[in-house]
Amino acid sequence: MKKVLVVEDNEDSRELLCAMLEDSYEITSCADARSALALLESTTLLPDLLLLDISLPGIDGIQLLHRIRSSEALAGIPAVALTAHAMKGDESRFRSLGFDGYVTKPIVDESQLIRVMEYLIHRGGKPTS
Ligand SMILES: [Mg+2]
Repeated sequence: MKKVLVVEDNEDSRELLCAMLEDSYEITSCADARSALALLESTTLLPDLLLLDISLPGIDGIQLLHRIRSSEALAGIPAVALTAHAMKGDESRFRSLGFDGYVTKPIVDESQLIRVMEYLIHRGGKPTS
């Protein structure tokens, strides 16, 4: 099973994501960036994909991704931004910040999320659409 690290501070959203994905992926979840970084730096967890909420207390998802991209060991892990603040231009903004994919919350269509995840896990590159 592919390993996915979910970082989401909202407990309900985190539990929903884990429930949606746990049959298909080995999920590890964190409620904030600090614990995610501690986990990534201190353990043997090398996820195949990151699902990062953007609005996190303290270090936000954008800063978290920046920290991950600065680490040689972690830099290549594909990352999907999760955000409730969907606005025109967001997708290109998140891509320019280093995210490989973008999913709007609330997630109503889990197959769309899984499609993005599968694409990134198996292609290891940026989707073309
Ligand atoms: Mg949040």
